[in-house]
Amino acid sequence: MRRGPDFTLSTGPTTVSPTALSGFGRPVTYHYDPGFIELFRQVERDVATLLDTSHDVVLMPGEAALGLEAAMRALGRPGAHALAVVSGPYGASMADELRELSVEVTEVRSAYTGTVRIEDVAAALEKDPDIELLTVVHCESAAGTSNDVEALGRLAREHDVVVLVDAVASMGGTPLFPDEWGLDLCVGGAQKCLGGPVPLSLMSVGPRAWQLIDANPTAPTGSFLSLLDYRTKWKQGGRFPSAPPISDVYALAAVLEEVLEDGVATSFERHARAARACRAGVTGMGLDLWADDEHVAADSVTAAAIPDSVDADELVAHIRGRYQVMLSGGGGVGNLVRIGHMGETSRGMYVVVGLASLGQGLRDLGVEVDVGGGVDAAMATLAG
Ligand SMILES: *Cc1c(COP(=O)(O)O)cnc(C)c1O
Repeated sequence: MRRGPDFTLSTGPTTVSPTALSGFGRPVTYHYDPGFIELFRQVERDVATLLDTSHDVVLMPGEAALGLEAAMRALGRPGAHALAVVSGPYGASMADELRELSVEVTEVRSAYTGTVRIEDVAAALEKDPDIELLTVVHCESAAGTSNDVEALGRLAREHDVVVLVDAVASMGGTPLFPDEWGLDLCVGGAQKCLGGPVPLSLMSVGPRAWQLIDANPTAPTGSFLSLLDYRTKWKQGGRFPSAPPISDVYALAAVLEEVLEDGVATSFERHARAARACRAGVTGMGLDLWADDEHVAADSVTAAAIPDSVDADELVAHIRGRYQVMLSGGGGVGNLVRIGHMGETSRGMYVVVGLASLGQGLRDLGVEVDVGGGVDAAMATLAG
């Protein structure tokens, strides 16, 4: 087999931690082995601890896109009214999926460099009192921006609206507190800020979300996409709807144990520091951040605007080929390069590798940037 890149600093899936690898290496067991059941329940409790939540935790097999689809199918009652916050492509695709389910969707939008204004969301909720569901993406990893889900959750609670959060690129790396903030259903993954396995959706489902699901006659049952099956079969009956991906559960157990041992706040601080260093590096080498300002920039991904003379996707390919560093390209949002600093890559010097390869890659393609200035600025942040 050919070697992969030396560094994977993409926006996820990203470098898995050595801890996760130790989990992947465990012998596969039967899913009804008592040891596995015990471990599975411990993982559920660990996810609850990570989110400081009393809501039900559902670990659904499948990459988080599947968990998101399951959540939308469960909550999206045909004919119901929903409000979709759209500040990037992931938000837009949630709105699209709801419309496919015949939900009446009102979108509150912002440019894909920023975030929506809370006043605009409030106005939309006031205008249509039938809105029962609000969807929002916490970290829009495609644009390196984040939405204020705390403020949106509080607002939604005032209007008695159920909130569904795509927290795939934030869970474990950015503060996210479903109970305190009124976030009724959160969907995360382990392959981003936890540096863990790809094929698991980590979901928290609160009582108000269950109420809406119970009121939806089209919520799937007897399906791989069914949240209701998890409640009846697993939570109430102790039988898995289907065999979980055993090795991935072991890897998830290992990374969660590590994050919780270090303290969740330590992970949040590490991601925030990596983000500050990365932003300082981007501007320090003379590039612009893609995000309008630091306040909307995400803690797990930094997007740099790339001058028009260079195609961002070609630049990413060049950096991968020449320097063996895998970054993420524009993802359809614009001419930008994204450096992921999530999970394992939120540690230590990873962002510096990302910045140096980005800067030198640009130079190779004829753009004059101050690579050293960028590295200096990032190091100053990491040292401080
Ligand atoms: C990674 C990610 C997902 C999962 O979707 P993929 O495109 O399949 O990776 C969903 N939402 C967000 C915000 C993500 O970052």
